Amino acid sequence: MAIEPERLILIIEDEVDLAKLLEFHLQHHGFETLAAHDGMTGLNEAIQRTPDLIILDLMLPKIHGLEVCRLLRSSPGTRQVPILVLSALHTTATKIRGLDMGADDYMTKPFEFAELISRVNALLRRRQGEPLLR
Ligand code: CA
Repeated sequence: MAIEPERLILIIEDEVDLAKLLEFHLQHHGFETLAAHDGMTGLNEAIQRTPDLIILDLMLPKIHGLEVCRLLRSSPGTRQVPILVLSALHTTATKIRGLDMGADDYMTKPFEFAELISRVNALLRRRQGEPLLR
């Protein structure tokens, strides 16, 4: 595997234990991480830090994840940042709403960390304009 510059992943997740686990797994795969536990803090961190990717829960205190998604997409600094929604809401209608609000991918809880890491890598590759298969 080629050595790449460290990339920052912002995790917006109000379940603190899950946020910690996500940080642990992402750091293990060489990512720098930052966690926010409500929608408002997450939005502010995203705007200030411009992460390389955002993992976004939907049922969040202060600002709902779908609204966070919409605001991220309407802000010039974060418009291009890939968003992976991670939610317990698994209905097709919610998935469609998430994707319509500008999310790039949608995973439902419970999930496997290996799959999450692989989707994160796929989204980052796509953003860089690299081919998915080499
Ligand atoms: Ca939640």
